[in-house]
Amino acid sequence: MTIEIIKRNSTNYEKTILVIGVFHGDEPQGEYLIKEFLKIPKRNFKNRLVYIPRLNSNSERKNPNGVDLNRNYPAKNWELGDKTSNYYGGDFPASEIETKAVIKVTEEIQPDAIISIHAPFKIVNYDGPEEKTRALAEKISEITGYPTQKEIGYATPGSFGTYMGLEKEIPTITIEVDEEVPVIELLPKFTNLFNYLEDEY
Ligand SMILES: [Zn+2]
Repeated sequence: MTIEIIKRNSTNYEKTILVIGVFHGDEPQGEYLIKEFLKIPKRNFKNRLVYIPRLNSNSERKNPNGVDLNRNYPAKNWELGDKTSNYYGGDFPASEIETKAVIKVTEEIQPDAIISIHAPFKIVNYDGPEEKTRALAEKISEITGYPTQKEIGYATPGSFGTYMGLEKEIPTITIEVDEEVPVIELLPKFTNLFNYLEDEY
């Protein structure tokens, strides 16, 4: 299995932003939104964007090994869970190739911010250094129309946001899109968002 990683603008950039779609296989919106956006040719950029359109090749929440990729990060609060649970975080932290690939690319590109696209809660959740993470979350909230929400309301051991945001101190934004509307209706807002990240942030 190969995980597609697309880099846009690798020269003369100010910031680097990593965008990840489909952590959970049953939340396919991110792949569509990223791929449709990337069909539009573009010449001038301010920032370097690195896109992973589809992290999870499975069609269910968990990856093909039955692991919730959003619980598999080597955060201090990672815990061994029940294999049958929808939130099973793997046999050990970073056990999955998807997790290893994300950690590797993050170490390589040293992103200034990370965005991941989930469904269906219609919120912009964020983890990371308070001031700049909140500022970016508020901007994304303005563009997408989803309110910001700092706490998601339940514990997330070994989550991506805990590891990258709280422990590695990279502003990490989790956008939970609306799954009740056809994904094509989300495209204008996400086109604005990706253009903002590429040209303004
Ligand atoms: Zn999700």
